[in-house]
Amino acid sequence: MFGECHAHIIMDGKNYRKAVELHAEQVQDDVIRRHLKAYQDVGVSFVRDGGDSYGVSRRAKELAPEYGIDYRTPVFAIHKEGHYGSIVGRSFRNLREYYQRVLEAREEGADFIKIMTTGLLDFDNHGKVTGTPLEAAEVREMVHIAHEEGFAVMSHTNGVYGVQAALEAGVDSVEHGNYMDEETVLMLAQSRTVWVPTLVTVRNLMGCGRYEDRVIRPIMDHAAANLRLAYEKGAMIAPGSDAGAYQVPHGKGIEDELSAFLQILGDTAEVRTRLENGEYEIYRRFCRN
Ligand SMILES: [Zn+2]
Repeated sequence: MFGECHAHIIMDGKNYRKAVELHAEQVQDDVIRRHLKAYQDVGVSFVRDGGDSYGVSRRAKELAPEYGIDYRTPVFAIHKEGHYGSIVGRSFRNLREYYQRVLEAREEGADFIKIMTTGLLDFDNHGKVTGTPLEAAEVREMVHIAHEEGFAVMSHTNGVYGVQAALEAGVDSVEHGNYMDEETVLMLAQSRTVWVPTLVTVRNLMGCGRYEDRVIRPIMDHAAANLRLAYEKGAMIAPGSDAGAYQVPHGKGIEDELSAFLQILGDTAEVRTRLENGEYEIYRRFCRN
């Protein structure tokens, strides 16, 4: 089917602050409709959002059927206070508060739980991830709590320590997963976790002027090498573009992501089948109701 396994309808691919501000007072249906239309135009009928703090993705879920789209949302993402994630959600200080956030998510109609376990890739520092990753033991508890409550877990995670911790905790999907090493990719391949590498969040920065191409290129190449290895070793992989992120427009983002996969892995029936299977796995676990 090739839907979009990772989007943020609140953002517009251009200016994060401005896009978010639009909804600060009140959620703007016309903006959401414009983005939903962009999905409809490229034939996308399934979108999994990564959450936001203003209930924009929750509203998108209500409007989406008018566009023939099955829209799924965690409502907001959950991050630990003092760590990365405030732009897409709500924080917790301890596991008791985390549990409260999970209950709030349910109350507000979440389809699944989204957690933030590490920062972003650091463009000024190749190979590094911003901030400190959450402790493996804490991530394990977070995932356990969400699973006990009947939710699948989408995990924003980068770096070796973070991805290994997320895999050990049994997250249902790892988002981004930049800067894995070989050992981590092998762990991924042996796990039941689906990897959504969001390749175009980096690739679409080539030539955009925000960062120099010599900074972007090695990150791109590293991600491509990891993807090839993950594919070879049988890892579950699925297309999601992080649409709404800088230079990643709604609708076109997932088309770009798909081309990136086919460019890296080759455009063969086998590759397409593997991607379809990965996406089906996302759909099966994250869209249960
Ligand atoms: Zn995201």
